[in-house]
Amino acid sequence: MISITKAQLDNLVQLQKIGDKINTTIGMLDTIGTRLESLEVELALYEKKVEDEKKILQEFKRQYRSFESDLQAKQPQIIKSKEKLRSVKTNKEYNSTLKEIDKLKEQNSLLEDEMLNLLDRIDEADKAVLKSQEEYSQTKSDITTRMNAVSLEEQDGKNELTRLNKNCSALETKINKDLLIKFKLVKEKITGPSISPVINAVCQGCHLNIPPQMYIELQRIENLKFCPNCQRMIYWVEPQ
Ligand SMILES: [Zn+2]
Repeated sequence: MISITKAQLDNLVQLQKIGDKINTTIGMLDTIGTRLESLEVELALYEKKVEDEKKILQEFKRQYRSFESDLQAKQPQIIKSKEKLRSVKTNKEYNSTLKEIDKLKEQNSLLEDEMLNLLDRIDEADKAVLKSQEEYSQTKSDITTRMNAVSLEEQDGKNELTRLNKNCSALETKINKDLLIKFKLVKEKITGPSISPVINAVCQGCHLNIPPQMYIELQRIENLKFCPNCQRMIYWVEPQ
């Protein structure tokens, strides 16, 4: 049996509170990497959108240039056919050459329509690129701000952890060595708090009743007691 005082119990309770805060802080620090990563992923999506829009624009421009060179290639053919028209001997030949010229002109007119159509699409794609670039730069500045806030949170968390660990070590020096060993043994075995209050004979660690005799002894604060159900250190708290 380990004898105990109210002050020693208070120290253990305090040690548990610091331990809880340390766990919460470590838990928060553990999320930092994922949070930064998801912000990077979010930004990359906007960056990809800009690249995709640029590709669409380039494709329209490429098509336009290709039609333009088709059109240029057809011009000499028309000139050639017109020259031919002047030297033809028969009506039949004349008509077929006229048809040839008409066909070339029609093809050119179709090409010109396509090119006009493409100019509209280039214009739209150009605007889409500008819009997505704007969205990207706005998002970038927003995400940079958020990333800085997360980094700041990380720094605060690290500072807090250092402070808590110092407090923990300082408090441990005040605690009886045997008690501290017991406390750490329970901590290793049990998930959650190592020391729990007992209110109205109910252990707050496992929410089960402790035996009536133990509850009476607990109120005297003479010896360190453990919950027979969850094995946590227990202490009495006056019911409200
Ligand atoms: Zn219990």
